[in-house]
Amino acid sequence: MSEPQIVRTKIVATVGPVSRAEEPLQTLVAAGVDVFRLNMAHGSIAEHQETLDRIRRVSDAAGRPIGVLVDLAGPKIRLGELPGGAVECVEGAEITFVSGTAAGPGEFTTTYEPLVKELAVGDAVMLADGTVSLVVEERRADRARCRVVQGGIVRSRQGVNLPGVKLSVAAMSAADWQHAEWAAAAGADFVSLSFVRSAVEVKLLKELLRTRGSRARVVAKIEKREALDNLDSIVEAADVVMVARGDLGVEIDVAGMPMVQKQIIRVCQRWQKPVIVATQMLDSMQHSRRPTRAETTDVANAILDGADACMLSGETAIGDHPRLAVEMMRRIAAATERQYLADRWQYLEGRFGRDETGAAVAAVEFPPPPSKLVEGLHPITQAVVDGAGRIAAELDAKLVVVASKSGVTAIARSKRRGAVPTVGVSDSPATLRQMALYWGVTPLAMDGWADTSDLLERVTAWGLAAGRLRRGDRILLVAGTGFGAGGHNMAVVHEV
Ligand code: PGA
Ligand code: MN
Repeated sequence: MSEPQIVRTKIVATVGPVSRAEEPLQTLVAAGVDVFRLNMAHGSIAEHQETLDRIRRVSDAAGRPIGVLVDLAGPKIRLGELPGGAVECVEGAEITFVSGTAAGPGEFTTTYEPLVKELAVGDAVMLADGTVSLVVEERRADRARCRVVQGGIVRSRQGVNLPGVKLSVAAMSAADWQHAEWAAAAGADFVSLSFVRSAVEVKLLKELLRTRGSRARVVAKIEKREALDNLDSIVEAADVVMVARGDLGVEIDVAGMPMVQKQIIRVCQRWQKPVIVATQMLDSMQHSRRPTRAETTDVANAILDGADACMLSGETAIGDHPRLAVEMMRRIAAATERQYLADRWQYLEGRFGRDETGAAVAAVEFPPPPSKLVEGLHPITQAVVDGAGRIAAELDAKLVVVASKSGVTAIARSKRRGAVPTVGVSDSPATLRQMALYWGVTPLAMDGWADTSDLLERVTAWGLAAGRLRRGDRILLVAGTGFGAGGHNMAVVHEV
C-alpha cells in the first residue's frame, strides 16, 4: 500500500452561498478543508447556526475533526446606500462625506457616524478595495470635502479604508458582541476579531468568551497599520493570528505587503502562535478552473514563510469552483512541503543532520527556533517535545505522538515544523477541532487510555489501519509519568 499523502499545511475555507449546503460542505471536507470560516459580516445568526450544525454533522460523518472559525466583522466602516447602487468617482471631482444617512448628489454617507469629525485635511480615504482613492481637502462640523485622486466605480455598502487614520471607534460593535455571545453558546472553536489595533482588544474578546464558558481560541486579524505598530503585544495576547491581506493591502502600501507578511509570520514563530495567511490566495479561481502562476507561487511562498494555514475566501464562498480551489491549494501545499522537507528540513530537528551522502552536517535552522514558551505550557514539556522531535529525526521515525488535553503541547510540537508528522491524541472533541488548524498535526480522537503502553498500542493499531505505519517503523511518544507539574515529562521510542 502506498503511503497516504500527508499535507501538513492546513486549509481554512470561508463558507458562503455556494458552499453552505450539506453536500458542498461534504465535498469540501473530502477535498481537504480543515477549518471552516463563518463570516459574520454577512447573513443572520440563525443562518450561521444552521451552517455550523451542518459542519458538525459533516465532520462526524467523515470521522474527521473540523474546526469552525467565527469571524467578527469588527469596526469595518462601510459606505451607505448610493443612488442606483453605484456611483462613478471621476478623477479630480469632489466627493463630500456627510454625517447622517441622507446623501445628496456628490455626497456619501457611511456606517460610522463620527467619521466626519475624525478625518483631517490631508487624510486619504480608500474605496472599492483600494482601487479608488480620495484625499480630504476641507473639513467642517458635519462634512468632509474630498478630491478624487484615483477614480473608479464605487458601490453601496462597500468598505471604507482610512490608512493611518486613528479612529475612536470601539473594537467591538453591538453586533460583534451579539455574534461573540452566539459563538460562545454555539461552541465555536475559534473566534476572530477584525481590525485589531491593540492587545487590549484581543484580551477583551478573550474575557468575553471565557466568562461565557467558551474555550474558543481568539484569532487576531492583522489588517491595520496600528496593529503592525503593536504587533508584538498583539501576537502575545492572541491565540492565533491572521495575516488579513484584503484590508491590510489597502491600509498599508500594497507594495510593502509581502515583507510585512513575512514579518508577521516571524513574530508568530517567536511567540509560537499558529498563523493563517488569508485573501486572494487563489483569487482567479473564483471564475477559472486553474489558478495563475503567481497564485500558486503565492501559496507556496506563504508556506515557506512559515504559514500554518492558508485561507480561501471568495473562492469557496461565492466562487464557481470551490472544490477545485481546495484541491489546488492542497496540491500546492503537498508539492511545496515535499520538496522543502526533502531539501532542507529533513534534519532540522537534529542538532546534526546528514547531507545527501549521509555525512553529518549542522542542521539548517529555519524557521528560527521559537524563543518564547507556548502559553500554559510547562518548560519541561517544551523541552521534552523538542527532544522527542530530535530523536524522531535521528531515528527516521514515522510519527511523533502527543496526547494533549488542551492542545498546547500540540502547538509546541507544530511550531517546530518538524519533518516527522505529528499525531495529536485527545479525548476532547473541542481540542481535536482546534488541532485541525495546527501545521503538521493530525488530530486523533481516543477516549481514555489506561497508561502509556495502552496508548501506544492503540495509536499503533490506528496507524497500521490508516496506512500511516508499517511493522518495524519507529514512533515517538511524548508522555508523562504522572508525577510533578510537568505533565509531559518523558519521550518514549516504540518500534512497531
Ligand atoms: P475579511 O478579512 O475577508 O473579513 O475582510 C480578511 C482580509 O481582510 O484579508
Ligand atoms: Mn478584512
